[in-house]
Amino acid sequence: MKFIGAHVSASGGVQNAPLNAEKIGANAFALFTKNQRRWDAKPLEQKNIEQFKINCDKANIKSDQILPHDSYLINLGHPEAAGLERSRAAFIDEMQRCEQLGLSLLNFHPGSHLKKISVTECLSRIAESINIALDQTQGVCAVIENTAGQGSNLGHSFEQLAEIIAQVEDKSRVGICLDTCHSFAAGYDLTSHEACEKTFQQFEQVVGFQYLRAMHLNDSKNPLGSRVDRHHSLGMGTIGNAVWEYIMPDTRFDNIPLVLETIDETLWPAEIQYLRSLIKKAA
Ligand SMILES: [Zn+2]
Ligand SMILES: [Zn+2]
Repeated sequence: MKFIGAHVSASGGVQNAPLNAEKIGANAFALFTKNQRRWDAKPLEQKNIEQFKINCDKANIKSDQILPHDSYLINLGHPEAAGLERSRAAFIDEMQRCEQLGLSLLNFHPGSHLKKISVTECLSRIAESINIALDQTQGVCAVIENTAGQGSNLGHSFEQLAEIIAQVEDKSRVGICLDTCHSFAAGYDLTSHEACEKTFQQFEQVVGFQYLRAMHLNDSKNPLGSRVDRHHSLGMGTIGNAVWEYIMPDTRFDNIPLVLETIDETLWPAEIQYLRSLIKKAA
């Protein structure tokens, strides 16, 4: 089964996210469980947690169809002690929020070396941060998102993702979210069936599909290998539609959240319908 949705608003409380997903015809969604641009956050209120679960039930969306995203401020590979400590504490708080909401995945950007430590050292710090968080929580899988490789952001190559996973102790609770825009910006071609075949074969060889726990479906404003992270609406950017035609009928992408982060949310209902039509076409 294909779980298709978008990163919906949780404004007014987390309980609103499943309602917003239902409105656009989604059977998956992403959300922030706190303000993504602030360090501090009030704990979740019990009544909101309960209503979140009720609304998910009503929308028939289960925990493996939901992909919470952590705060943009967190850098699990931070080169400095204070920044690293603050990031690790905030990440554990994010994991605990997921636990409270009964969620099983937490999507995050791996981290940046800020040109102060080596790539190898930074990747080890990221893995250690994941180990610490997994140790202190239960049932939530740390889902590493591949990046466009902007600035000193790591996780833009499949090799770097594999290196982080190799150093995570509990392999059952670590996974990958592949963002199509980030992959393309990082140099992985997705503009034709053949290009997709090659890119995902590479992913299988270097990382392995058993670790694929989610996808972000975004077109890109910038060309292949630009290292610039700018999303576009499906079919309107430099990637085009071949990649959706490739992914939707392919069972390797079944039963994981496929989440739109495209720039025009008024198009989300149509984009979801379009993606669904591609599954049917194949069947
Ligand atoms: Zn993304
Ligand atoms: Zn992005």
